[in-house]
Amino acid sequence: MIFRRRKRVPLIALTVVIAVCTGASAQDKEQGNTAMAPDGRISAALKQISAQRIQANIEKLVSFGTRLTLSAQDPEAIAAGRGVGAAREWIKAEFERYSKDCGGCLEVKVDSFTEPAADRIPQPTQITNVYAVLRGSDAENAKRIVLVTGHYDSRNSDTLDVKGDAPGANDDGSGTAVSLECARVLSKMKFPATIIFLTVAGEEQGLNGSHHFAAMAKEQGWNVEAVLNNDIVGGDKSALQDHSVVRVFSEGLPAAATEQEIKRIRGLGGENDSASRQLARYVADVGRAYDVGVKPMLVFRLDRYLRGGDHYSFNQEGFAAVRFTEFREDFHHQHQNVRTENAIEYGDLAKFVDFDYVAHVARVNAATLASLASAPAPPANVHVLTKELENDSTLTWGASPGGRAAGYEIVWRATTSPEWEHVQKVGNVQRSTLKLSKDNVIFAVRAVDAEGHRSLPVVPAPER
Ligand SMILES: [Zn+2]
Repeated sequence: MIFRRRKRVPLIALTVVIAVCTGASAQDKEQGNTAMAPDGRISAALKQISAQRIQANIEKLVSFGTRLTLSAQDPEAIAAGRGVGAAREWIKAEFERYSKDCGGCLEVKVDSFTEPAADRIPQPTQITNVYAVLRGSDAENAKRIVLVTGHYDSRNSDTLDVKGDAPGANDDGSGTAVSLECARVLSKMKFPATIIFLTVAGEEQGLNGSHHFAAMAKEQGWNVEAVLNNDIVGGDKSALQDHSVVRVFSEGLPAAATEQEIKRIRGLGGENDSASRQLARYVADVGRAYDVGVKPMLVFRLDRYLRGGDHYSFNQEGFAAVRFTEFREDFHHQHQNVRTENAIEYGDLAKFVDFDYVAHVARVNAATLASLASAPAPPANVHVLTKELENDSTLTWGASPGGRAAGYEIVWRATTSPEWEHVQKVGNVQRSTLKLSKDNVIFAVRAVDAEGHRSLPVVPAPER
């Protein structure tokens, strides 16, 4: 939607103390040592993700002519296969087909509502989100939700053009295809936590669909641990595209932070440690652990200049959410009427999409969803003790809810480092003291299960 490296910083003191406190591993200054170990079951699932399926799905979405949120959704238009209503019905049928193939393992649902007239909505309009729920296999952990989303609505040069073609192959047929393909492949597996495969509408009119869905999740008290928003992940085949990279955008200061929380962030240097940023780091870790074919490139900002997306709706409700977008966008191929002018082809056509690239991005998403849904819940009530001035650091935490943690790990990094650099296994305890000064590093605690699945890390709050 439109609105109008790595360099290690050597810390001499830190390096010396690490040798004392972790001793066991000479390699633990290496980034890779904080990485998760790949799960063979997840690796096998990633091989099932198919560029051909993704291509067929994107071409099918394009075949509806336009998927503008304001376009036709009456029974005649649905029968004729043109407009947002026909697209919605096809997506629903597709989820239902996947469910049939896994013995009814998916609950296919719609979240339908009437959006009142607004800036880009001339009259009250029905908007329908379509989603499939792969319910967790463990009663306690099934309350935990990880979610992948893309928007199935499209637009051309005019946000109000209900008739003209708006193929939306890349924006956001690609993201819709990622949600669908993750559903098809992961529905063949079982996870302790719940995965939701979501496709929303109304994005181009003002993030309406995601706003409604995120507000519903908040109101109903859903425990949404992570949201992966895929928007423009088609790998447009323009000359300067880098097909080896996908950008992952994450907010810094949380949109939902209270005044008190902002004050603490300001005081302690927490600008780089929102829950969304921990999720972004987790995605980067997944990208290193699995053979996904594309490297997540973390961008530490909410979104691109002048642009917005559905992850923000979830951020506003206090959920961790990131946005995946191709490395380089071709603006001739977004939000444009299909035409040729001065030998330039305009329009968001399927021929500009690199389907292998979309499949790579789908693998990063599927691996992240599967890893998080396999992992224990993050530890609760993580604190760093600050009762007195001391150079050691004592962290305390509550057990990971849901009883799946076999132990815990403390990770840390220099305050200037983008990603976690060091890890200390501390066993199945809820308190640990490290010979490291909390003044010099940023800590977090994560839960690990018996097979090595890691939760999202949680940065401690100070406790006096
Ligand atoms: Zn979009």
